[in-house]
Amino acid sequence: MNLNLTGMWLTVNRFCNFRCPWCYAKSTKYNKNGDMPLELAKKIIKFGADLGIQEVMLIGGEPTYYQNIFDVIDFISTQNMKSTLVTNGYRFSDISFFNKIKGSKLDSIGFSLKGGSEEQYFASTKVKNAYMKIKAAIKNLSSLKKILVGYSVVLSKENLENIEEIAGLVATDSTKWLLLSFCVPTINDDGIPIKDHMPAQSETIEMLVDKFLN
Ligand code: SF4
Repeated sequence: MNLNLTGMWLTVNRFCNFRCPWCYAKSTKYNKNGDMPLELAKKIIKFGADLGIQEVMLIGGEPTYYQNIFDVIDFISTQNMKSTLVTNGYRFSDISFFNKIKGSKLDSIGFSLKGGSEEQYFASTKVKNAYMKIKAAIKNLSSLKKILVGYSVVLSKENLENIEEIAGLVATDSTKWLLLSFCVPTINDDGIPIKDHMPAQSETIEMLVDKFLN
C-alpha cells in the first residue's frame, strides 16, 4: 500500500538529561525505564515501511540515550528508509559516542539548540557546563561528511535576544539548515496550557526582521 506518506516520528524513549521549561515531554517525568522494546520499534518501523514511508525521525525524551539506538538505525536502513535523529546534541561531545554515530547508517541529525551562552544553557537545561559540551558537540559534528547536520531553535523569552549568537554558533561549512520555531504552550498535569516562556509572536517577528532583514 502506498499512501504518499513521506515521514514518521518514532518516540523511542522518555529519558532526557535536560530539563527545558517548555519541554513537550515533561509529563512523562523523563522515565529512565521508558525505553521502547527493540522488537516493538522494529514492528512499527516495518509497518511504516509497508505503508511506503521513506523516513523515520527518532525522538524521545533524548533518543541518544535510547539503549537500542544503533540497532534501530541499522534496522531502518534494512527497510530502505532514511533515519533522522532529533536530539539535544549533548552526547555528541562524547568522542566515543560520536565515532559510533559516524560509523553508523544514520542519514541526518536535527540538533535542537537552547541558547547562545553558558548562562542561557544552564537557565534552559539545568545542566552545568552544558554550553561547553554543546560547543564540543558542534565541533565534532562539523567534521561529518556522510551524515547531514541541521540545527533548530525554539524561540523563547530566554533566548530571543541572543538569536544572532546562536546562529553564529552553528555557522560551519557542514551545517545544512537552521530552523527557527515559535515556542508553543506546554500542558501541565491539570491540562492547563502554560505560556510563561512564550514571547508574543508579533514581538518575535519584529525582532527577527530587525536582526536579520534590516
Ligand atoms: S532536550 Fe528536548 S526532551 Fe529534553 S528536556 Fe529539552 S525539550 Fe525536553
